Amino acid sequence: MTNELTSLSIRQMQQGLRVGAFSCRELIEAHFQRIQNLEPRIHAFITLAEKSAFNQSEDADKRLKTARKQNSQSNLPTLLGIPIAVKDLITVAGMHCTCGSKVLGDWVPPFTATAVLRLVEAGAIVIGKTNTDEFAMGSSTETSAFGPTFNPWDTSRVPGGSSGGSAAAVAAQMVAAAIGSDTGGSVRQPAAFCGLTGIKPTYGRVSRYGLVAYGSSLDSMGVLTRSAEDAALLFEIMAGLDPFDATSLDQPVPSITFSNKPDLKGLRVGIPKEYFINGIQPDVETRIHAAVNTLQEMGADIVKISLPHTEYALPVYYLIAPAEASANLARYDGVRLGLRESSGGLLEMYSTTRGEGFGPEVKRRIMLGTYALSSGYYDAYYGQAQKVRTLIKRDFDEAFKVVDVIACPVTPSTAFKIGEHTDDPLAMYLEDVFTLPANLAGVPGIAFPVGYDSNHLPIGMQLMGQPFQEGMLFHIGHAYQQVTNYHLQFPIH
Ligand code: GLN
Repeated sequence: MTNELTSLSIRQMQQGLRVGAFSCRELIEAHFQRIQNLEPRIHAFITLAEKSAFNQSEDADKRLKTARKQNSQSNLPTLLGIPIAVKDLITVAGMHCTCGSKVLGDWVPPFTATAVLRLVEAGAIVIGKTNTDEFAMGSSTETSAFGPTFNPWDTSRVPGGSSGGSAAAVAAQMVAAAIGSDTGGSVRQPAAFCGLTGIKPTYGRVSRYGLVAYGSSLDSMGVLTRSAEDAALLFEIMAGLDPFDATSLDQPVPSITFSNKPDLKGLRVGIPKEYFINGIQPDVETRIHAAVNTLQEMGADIVKISLPHTEYALPVYYLIAPAEASANLARYDGVRLGLRESSGGLLEMYSTTRGEGFGPEVKRRIMLGTYALSSGYYDAYYGQAQKVRTLIKRDFDEAFKVVDVIACPVTPSTAFKIGEHTDDPLAMYLEDVFTLPANLAGVPGIAFPVGYDSNHLPIGMQLMGQPFQEGMLFHIGHAYQQVTNYHLQFPIH
């Protein structure tokens, strides 16, 4: 019973709850049972909210019962009773928010992030906060001050990062869906490593109010699910203008409807030559080409394209992201919230708090960023990086004149071993080489599973679209998932 309930899609959960095939309490229980069994091996969560989840399940069951009596199920909120998890970089009122860091101490935010609030108002139940690289700086969830998360497909490997806890929780069926954030790949890369569907929306599409800032010109909030259809369901609710986030955009969010006919006739799919380079794991390249063939069989036209400035994305990102991070993280000084370490005067309190509170990767970023912004170097580093960023953005503008979407790998390789890159920051940074450009250009990207390598580790394909074309990305992902079943494979039964 437990496994049956936790492996359902969100739509199946919705239907089962509405017809009374199972209660919300049973659904929540089944997920906590998985957590109890698997969490010691996976460590997906930093905080669990069992009591509030069960309380909410009781309310949901009452509403479901009344609706069944009155035959008014169609008026129930869309996500009523669906268990979700939230990356611990995003606030949920009344739950600890650590950002994977010691520096926030036992801070409990008094407000819920807008996008999460919209899900909660649609009936979703937040059952916990998931592990993350410290302040989302990393690609493996190993920089978390609370220890790493382990990949459910192979627990000697990383789940990806920084939303690794969210990915592991969904892959291990501890929740139906999880919210993550993506500054340079942190939704898409863990989705790929854990065999999931993950969406990084257009910059400004989903409110970031309540998402702790990392690189403000790059940050976005997205979701990790087991199918494109589930991701679309959540995205639709989360997206749209929010007066609390000055960068959120006033663009209509068209409702996404799926046809059951996987027809991609007329769709132009671009294959950028710069994303098929030396050093990609051969299995990854083979599976991406096979997936592109599948799109072609469904009617898509495949077009070879070039994004000539791709090679600059990595250095540009690793100037801009740390620069913005160094400014954003200046607020953690022991004064208003979180940790306070003090033995002397004010300056000493600042430096001891920050020295004790931040881990080594965050310190590295703050130093890099502060240097890039310092007077005398600003133009040469940050200013120059911004100019090259414009060229990267223009590459996309040009490409989208001739294609509708761009297909490529999410990552050069499948999930690596725990500890494999911890002594080599550059090797870690290279993990993001295919995901960073979408953040620099502000365009949306989706990742979904397209096969396995020889160790049976999932491989993800990425599709990048024009701004505000998330609907098209979901549509293609769903079409692909109609004719394949990689998204239905689970690592732990
Ligand atoms: N791995 C990248 C970094 O460390 C991206 C992280 C993210 O998207 N939050 O900056």
